[in-house]
Amino acid sequence: MGYVIEGKTGPWEVVIGLEVHAQVISQAKLFSGAATAFGGEPNHQVSLIDAAFPGMLPVINRECVAQAIRTGLGLNAEINLWSRFDRKNYFYADLPAGYQISQYQHPIVGKGEIEIELSDGSTRRIGITRLHLEQDAGKSLHDQHPTKTLIDLNRAGVALMEIVSEPDMRSPEEAGAYLRKLRTILRYLGTCDGNMEEGSLRADVNVSVRRPGEGFRTRCEVKNVNSVRFVMQAIEAEARRQIAIWEEGGVVEQETRLFEPGRGITRSMRSKEDAHDYRYFPDPDLVPLVIDAAWVEELRRTLPELPDAKKRRFMEQYGLPAYDAGLLVAEAATADYYEKLARGRDPKLAANWMIGDLFAALNRTGRSIEDPPVAAEGLGELLDLLTDGTISGRIAKEVFEIMVETGEGARAIVEKRGLRQVTDTAAIEQAVAEVLAANADKVAEYKSGKEKLFGYFVGQVMKRMAGKGNPALVNEVLRRVLGGG
Ligand code: ADP
Ligand code: MG
Repeated sequence: MGYVIEGKTGPWEVVIGLEVHAQVISQAKLFSGAATAFGGEPNHQVSLIDAAFPGMLPVINRECVAQAIRTGLGLNAEINLWSRFDRKNYFYADLPAGYQISQYQHPIVGKGEIEIELSDGSTRRIGITRLHLEQDAGKSLHDQHPTKTLIDLNRAGVALMEIVSEPDMRSPEEAGAYLRKLRTILRYLGTCDGNMEEGSLRADVNVSVRRPGEGFRTRCEVKNVNSVRFVMQAIEAEARRQIAIWEEGGVVEQETRLFEPGRGITRSMRSKEDAHDYRYFPDPDLVPLVIDAAWVEELRRTLPELPDAKKRRFMEQYGLPAYDAGLLVAEAATADYYEKLARGRDPKLAANWMIGDLFAALNRTGRSIEDPPVAAEGLGELLDLLTDGTISGRIAKEVFEIMVETGEGARAIVEKRGLRQVTDTAAIEQAVAEVLAANADKVAEYKSGKEKLFGYFVGQVMKRMAGKGNPALVNEVLRRVLGGG
């Protein structure tokens, strides 16, 4: 059985569906020409349309539509050639029109799916219910003035894609994997930058619990969770809260809740609104959105290779295990780096160095793969020195650290610091003789059967040679000398 939470009265299963808001990458807003760049001076990227001046008329931005179609294709979803914009009416200070233009009954993208991978190596398909286009609202700033709330409309009218999943997930891990995979796909497509800190990607998490095998029970929606880790924590916290209610004989009420990361709990925000509360109706300022099938095909042809396909190709072309391939395709830039590095080299060696040493260096230096401390060409040069025997594996690690620190090239470091591997048999024999002479007692033990000491001698010889002895030769000479010959 999968993930269950043991309650006081028995096991509970968790049911999860995600509604993700993804900000569309576009120069201009969904229905106006105002700029969308993040971090602009407040209220400097606002057109009359975004500020909802009387008589304004929205005009759809073709690029935003293209981005939604690309995303739909990337999610293996149906593209609806006929869709419609509706007004979702509600009052809020940062929503000057008093309604949000959204899509309700007729979204631009219908059913699709995402394949997720779990830590045990298994995969699962999570259904996508729909994707629709809608406007973002402005931002209310409550912490800039002691008694006033300030409003910034720069974000008002920016295009969002709301991507709704089926209630197919059954554990925090699955929800985390889904969100990460969705983010990866969006970033590959170039339709959303996936930046959760800046709010380009935010998730509403729907959670319910049930006895294994039972039908669905009432869900609650945890709003606007802004990191994968918080999504996973919010699910766990919300599931435990609901289990406690059911087990005490209570009834879970459908409502909208907020996650408080500091306290690790969810708290009530408002009772759940229903569609009729918003009095949806077709926006009379906009004609239905009719899409040419040929345009969809054109967009399909220009899609990049997506993560699943790239992963399969990495496994076939480079013979990588699924685990390595999965890590290397998580970001398009990582995959590009790998392909540069692996060209003409041992693909598994290249993967190991990236996943081990390079990823660690990125973490340590806080740099990204787009701006790495060591470029693919530089790491390639190091691997070549390792492969052709100029340096040993141990020295290669050392050289890499120097490259990270100083930005110098591998070859230059090896020459300047005299790190070339010693393959001169005479020099190795000399070191071996010295080590054995200094360890006569251990040599005697070895000869009387304590063979484990061989590794000790190798270590000592390498140490004496400052790590530069060719390991194979050191082994060979030691064996010859110790072998009683
Ligand atoms: P609404 O339109 O009221 O938001 P939807 O039916 O569109 O309701 O569902 C919204 C989200 O809630 C979807 O992601 C869906 O998968 C999820 N969901 C629906 N029912 C449940 C349930 N019983 N438990 C958990 N999630 C659910
Ligand atoms: Mg909803």
